[in-house]
This record gives sequence, structure tokens and C-alpha cells, in this order.
Amino acid sequence: MNIIETIPQMQEVRKTLPEPVGFVPTMGYLHEGHISLVRKAKEENASVIVSIFVNPTQFGHNEDFEKYPRDMEGDIELLEEEGVDAVFAPEADEIYPKDFSSRVEVIGITQKLEGNCRPGHFRGVTTVVNKLFNIVGPDRAYFGQKDAQQAIVINKMVKDLNMNVDVVTCPTIREEDGLAMSSRNVYLKPEDRQSATVLYRSLMLANDLYEQGERNAETIREEMVRLIKTEELARIDYVSVADPLTLDELNEIQGKALVSLAVKIYKTRLIDNVILG
Ligand code: AMP
Repeated sequence: MNIIETIPQMQEVRKTLPEPVGFVPTMGYLHEGHISLVRKAKEENASVIVSIFVNPTQFGHNEDFEKYPRDMEGDIELLEEEGVDAVFAPEADEIYPKDFSSRVEVIGITQKLEGNCRPGHFRGVTTVVNKLFNIVGPDRAYFGQKDAQQAIVINKMVKDLNMNVDVVTCPTIREEDGLAMSSRNVYLKPEDRQSATVLYRSLMLANDLYEQGERNAETIREEMVRLIKTEELARIDYVSVADPLTLDELNEIQGKALVSLAVKIYKTRLIDNVILG
């Protein structure tokens, strides 16, 4: 497996890899969620490239960039076991040299939900993903449904800008008790861990209500909020029942609905979602 830190080296290795090339962008500290994307990419492509880059521009000033968990050695071992062809793990100044002055931005859908809580976040994501696509030149790129809005934004960027990449969105991988796997789960103290299942429990409540015929989005939001508030450690950022394309909040569910939420469990901010319909 090639472990690559510079852009020219990545471009050279790319030329030698059999096509089609699948690409899995990550911020590292890999878990089964990431590995599920790698396996899907392996199934569908002749070569697989994984990037590990904790992208500073997608973190707000008061967010966890500095303490974001990192384990390059462990990650490389896991990716080697999966038969990945190349790992691209650049330093920040390789991606953002001193004179860097460009931005890629999707407007509208990036102002809602996560974008509303984390201003500038998606501009950081689309800029770095665009750069990574240009550097790696993948035929297909793999993203997790766990970050539903991110997948929607990337799809929109690729469509709007006619990028020659197929975006594949893969299902959310969960712990046995339903907690969505996330690198940030390592922040959860033992006393937070049980409370953290409230995100999944509230999504399952939404799903049950929908299955029982409830189509009023506000009723579903209210019931979710009521359940989450039973957890003392939980603080809600948002609970949303929205159109999966526009991310506009729904009144009545007619087609599909993206039910998503962001909740702080003590100091750890977690997100999760399900699709209804
Ligand atoms: P991250 O390292 O958190 O930026 O995630 C890299 C990719 O893995 C993103 O496309 C995420 O949506 C995806 N991912 C993260 N957690 C999960 C999960 N539990 N299940 C499926 N995909 C995931």
C-alpha cells in the first residue's frame, strides 16, 4: 500500500493504478463506518484510494479541530488489511499553501441544519473535496448517509459543476444499541454513553409514528423533542423533518422525508438521521 503525503506523488501514483478508481475521503480515526465505505469501493472498482486529512477549514474557531482524535498508525494498519491501494495523508500546508485563496461554495442548502449551526462548515467541506477530487481523479467517490446533509451538498456540487465523479452514498453503520459510529464517540464519557442512544431512539420513534400513519411533521418533531428532553445530559441543536432535496422543513409528509438531528450530550455534539418513506 502506498502512503503518500504530497500532491505530485499522489498524482504520479494515480497514473499507475488500474481503473476504475474508487475514492473514500475521511478525517481518519477510522471505524467500521469508514471501513464499510472502503469495502463498497473495493467491490465496485479496480483500485481504491483513501484520504486521511483533518481539514482545518471545515472547523469553526470554537470547535474541536485541535483535539479531533488522530491515529495514523492504527488507520494505516486497518486500510492495509482491507487491501487499499493508496492512502493520501497530506499535511495542512500541502493542501492550503500560504497563498491559497480560492473557495468552492454551494449556496442555499448549506445555510440550513448543520450549516446554520456551523457557519462556513460546508464551504470548508466542498473546497477540500473539490481539491481532493482534482488531486485523486476518482471515477467514484464514497460518502456516508451518517452525514446526510454533507452527501446532499456534495451531490449538488458535483451536479452543478459537472464534475466527472459518481457519488455513492452508503448506509449508516451503528453500534449494537443504535448509536451511529463516529470518530467523535471517543469523546463520550461512560456516563454519557447511555444518554447518547437517545438520538437513535428518537429517530426510531419518528419511524414508528410514520409507520402508524402519522404524516404531520410538527407532531413528529414534537414527539422527538419530548423524548430527547427526558435525557438530562442532552441539549438539542435542531430536530428536523425536511424535504431530502431542498432541506426545507415539511408541514405534511407526502413523499420522502429526511429526519435529522444534532444533539449535544454534555460536551459532545452528535448528529444522526433516517429517511422516512
Ligand atoms: P469523517 O472521517 O467523519 O469525515 O467521515 C468520512 C466518511 O465516512 C464520510 O463520508 C462519513 O459520512 C462516513 N461515515 C462516518 N461515520 C459513518 C457511519 N457510522 N456509517 C457510514 N458512514 C460513515
